[in-house]
Amino acid sequence: MAESRQRIMEDEYVLSGREAEKRILEVALQVAGRVQTTMGPLGRDKLLVDRHGNRMLTNDGANILKHTEFDSPIAAIIIDVAKAQEKLYYDGTTTCVVLVGELMRLADQLIEQGVHPNTIIDGYNMALQFCKSILPQYSQSIYESEEWSATESAIQAVKTTLTGKSAEVELEHLSNVCVEATKHAKPEDIKILKQHGEVIETEFIKGVVLQNLPVTNDMPKEVQGKVLCLDEEFAAPQANVTLNDPDKIQQILNNQEAYLSNRVDLIKELQVKFVVCQKGIDSKVRTKLAKAGILAVRNVRKSDMIQIAELCGATIVTDIGALESNDVGDAEATVSDMGYIVVESDKKQTATIIIRAPTEQGADELHRGLEDAVGVAYLTSKNPILLPGAGQTQAFLHDRIRRTKWDAVWTSKQIAAANAFADALMIIPRTLAESAGLDTMETIVQLLREPGSYGVHAKGREVMSMNSVVEPIELVAGAMSGAVDAVTSLLRTDALYLARRLEVWEQGGFN
Ligand code: ADP
Ligand code: MG
Repeated sequence: MAESRQRIMEDEYVLSGREAEKRILEVALQVAGRVQTTMGPLGRDKLLVDRHGNRMLTNDGANILKHTEFDSPIAAIIIDVAKAQEKLYYDGTTTCVVLVGELMRLADQLIEQGVHPNTIIDGYNMALQFCKSILPQYSQSIYESEEWSATESAIQAVKTTLTGKSAEVELEHLSNVCVEATKHAKPEDIKILKQHGEVIETEFIKGVVLQNLPVTNDMPKEVQGKVLCLDEEFAAPQANVTLNDPDKIQQILNNQEAYLSNRVDLIKELQVKFVVCQKGIDSKVRTKLAKAGILAVRNVRKSDMIQIAELCGATIVTDIGALESNDVGDAEATVSDMGYIVVESDKKQTATIIIRAPTEQGADELHRGLEDAVGVAYLTSKNPILLPGAGQTQAFLHDRIRRTKWDAVWTSKQIAAANAFADALMIIPRTLAESAGLDTMETIVQLLREPGSYGVHAKGREVMSMNSVVEPIELVAGAMSGAVDAVTSLLRTDALYLARRLEVWEQGGFN
């Protein structure tokens, strides 16, 4: 760290003008290069290893960037855009970042030819708006005769997301699981759990799954009614006294018994049928609860507890003595043979996906894939306009931008930038062709023979109609918008200073 700071202090205290632009370009290309080869169905995986030797094998662009140590604030701008893409559209992060790299590379060529960065920003934005305006019509021209139901559309889009990821092994099954889950809950209300097993056993369950079992075997397996969420040891206070007198001992035991009976009675009065306890439950209490036909679990994880309380509308109680009727919630709980309890409530729509995979690493990567897929299913259900993937839409947009007769208000330099945007889009089919071992130049020529009709069938190593590989319109448009946002920030920057008191500079310098 000291070294990098010194270097900057000696000869690079300020980078400005062309020098700054070149450095920014260099970093943008470096970030894009990190993820480019993961793109598409034949994209390669990356093995990430941290300083402690922890390994992660992943194909997920956003995940790779999140875990890569770029010590440059320039990289952070691009990574932020990738994170935003993932948050808003769940997928398309690699596409977005690769597009940033290419837009920057072509912007640099324009700058060399004397085009001002602001003019490039104008041209890029003009092309972007134009693309957004023509996409719905393009979608209609392709899919108007398709009679996919909402479920089928979502399944198709999910399959595109899962293609090229480890989830591809059981594509059909996993796509169904994700789409079913989003029929019951929004992505943020779908919990994903991991267990050891075979991928085909991955399942969707309505409600929240608690990986706890009843505290005794003789409790009911199914209850419906009031729920108590308790963050207190369900036991009598301990008497810390040494007693020799058997009567006194008996008296204390009686008091404890009365104390516990009172509390169990209170719970019964409130019609509680399910006790979810974050701490322990005394054995005497367990017996009493079982006798009263109440289902109870203990040592529940805090995060699970919060979820259950939210689900059934309960308050997490820390003292049963102060329990009131509006503290308890409503739910239905069912003990499954698989070693967990399913909790459902009318108050909130929730779902759980239990991932099963033979290894922990496999389960983790599947988790990342399914998170994206659930989001894409949801996105498609909200806005079912679909576009063909595999570079087909980009080839269409490229052609349309290039053939458009722009209004006279636009200068030739702005139009040159719009054309550069059109060229940059072709990085998507080009990358897919490259990963498939196809001749990239020949592929582009073929795609542009009938722009918008063909994409790169990577696995079949040919150019053909890819209408069946679909992506939701918001995902495609979002990746382009995100890329233009990042490029706008980067092109607006004409100087890099080593500023005082800005932690990030001190750590990273201008690398
Ligand atoms: P991203 O993070 O951008 O989603 P991916 O590695 O998932 O990156 O690759 C996405 C690209 O792969 C998209 O352009 C998509 O259309 C394309 N793609 C997905 N499935 C196929 C397929 N079966 N054939 C060709 N291209 C595909
Ligand atoms: Mg993807």
